[in-house]
Amino acid sequence: MTTTPSIDVRSPANGSVVGRVPERPAEDVDTVVGELRERQSSWEALGVAGRVSWLERYRDWLLDNEDRLARVLQSETGKPWAEATIELPYVADLINYYCTHAGSFLAPEAPPAHGPLALTKRQRLVRRPYPVVGVITPWNFPLALALVDAIPALLAGAAVVVKPSEYTPLVTSEVASGWSEIGAPDVFTCVTGAGEAGAAVVDAVDYVQFTGSTRTGRAIGKRAAERLIPYSLELGGKDAMIVLADADLDRAARGVAWGGLCNAGQMCTSVERVYVDAGVHDEFVRRVVDAVGQLRVGEDDQSYRADVGALANSDQLDIVTRHVTDAVERGARVLTGGNRVGSGTFFEPTVLVDVDHDMACMREETFGPTIPIMRVTGADEAVRLANDTAYGLSASVWTRDTERGRRVAERLEAGAVNINDVFANLFTLPLPQAGWKQSGIGARLGGAQGIRKYTRSQAIVTARV
Ligand code: ADP
Repeated sequence: MTTTPSIDVRSPANGSVVGRVPERPAEDVDTVVGELRERQSSWEALGVAGRVSWLERYRDWLLDNEDRLARVLQSETGKPWAEATIELPYVADLINYYCTHAGSFLAPEAPPAHGPLALTKRQRLVRRPYPVVGVITPWNFPLALALVDAIPALLAGAAVVVKPSEYTPLVTSEVASGWSEIGAPDVFTCVTGAGEAGAAVVDAVDYVQFTGSTRTGRAIGKRAAERLIPYSLELGGKDAMIVLADADLDRAARGVAWGGLCNAGQMCTSVERVYVDAGVHDEFVRRVVDAVGQLRVGEDDQSYRADVGALANSDQLDIVTRHVTDAVERGARVLTGGNRVGSGTFFEPTVLVDVDHDMACMREETFGPTIPIMRVTGADEAVRLANDTAYGLSASVWTRDTERGRRVAERLEAGAVNINDVFANLFTLPLPQAGWKQSGIGARLGGAQGIRKYTRSQAIVTARV
């Protein structure tokens, strides 16, 4: 008798095994997708209103299970409780947004008539879903990143299979079972496994949405191209923060502590580099060190006793350690932090100054609790350096002159720019966003584009008889 291999899921905070999931072989994934494809047409036939009512019931199930889901998420990610509990409200809000607007975003269009047939034929554009959408997700936001794409795809009328990261498959499996628990049509499921299961998803579905590393995104793009199926990729970032001479320094210092250290710096939109006008550099740095010094690092339970949690795994710890060591060897100074903490994958919030673009911490994605700060002479140099990267996800500009901030923003090569803020763009769902350059292709989140990407337009031309 053969047994299905399984994956032990470990807490990065203390190394204990917190769960086990099957490692699904490629044939299984293929079968699952085949079943979804059979059921998809009756889901599409429910119409937007029918699908909205299932999504609203699903939102209520998520909210009813909020605490339990946050505990599972915390056990596999090592997040502080404050961070373990933010993903679900974000998703519930996204469900409300798309349930409200899906009808108009997906409505057929009758563009102004044109051409020789305009008088005799009725011209209409309808939007039909890709039958099965595969959503492949990373470990940093295992609940939110699965659902922010699954939900618009389901509302568009597609069936959805999610393949979560092998490091954090538990909460994603739970939210997928919630869909069956409410008795919804069987068109949303989760398959667990590592890269091979992800590749099997790409080989089977009709559209792939991937969030993760640029390296894996490129591999997925090539594989999808072989099959000539569409895909969208939301990849890494090296987000710059520009602090101009007239910035509110307290706000900017607290902003970088939040933007650089939230989720232990493991967000694709984390602040990864800071450029500060020389005139305010020293004062800004003093305030950043002050703000960072108040944070507590370590394992949390549900009592809010830590602000900065664990890194997701030991590979991540190695990258952060390498970036800090490289920076110091090349002449940077560590003003606070710089070391591992305890026996889990914890790293101290770290402020680095005297950095330059020869250092790994300014070129490669760190994805850790580090804040490298570089002195610049004015906005032009800041913009040039901020754009000196292969990535283009988001950025921020800090100035009391918001008009000037906007002008600087429009010179930056990034899919989203916050002025005097961090992460605010993530909460503006009406603005569709996607990374530029090597930060992504086509992965628009929000707005009409965020749901229409899961559909194909179909031209219907009717002769008047
Ligand atoms: P990370 O986000 O850990 O840096 P990846 O970008 O490699 O790592 O992983 C993100 C997701 O992509 C995970 O669910 C992982 O299992 C999956 N994955 C890894 N390799 C492949 C691949 N070749 N094809 C499809 N999915 C993959």
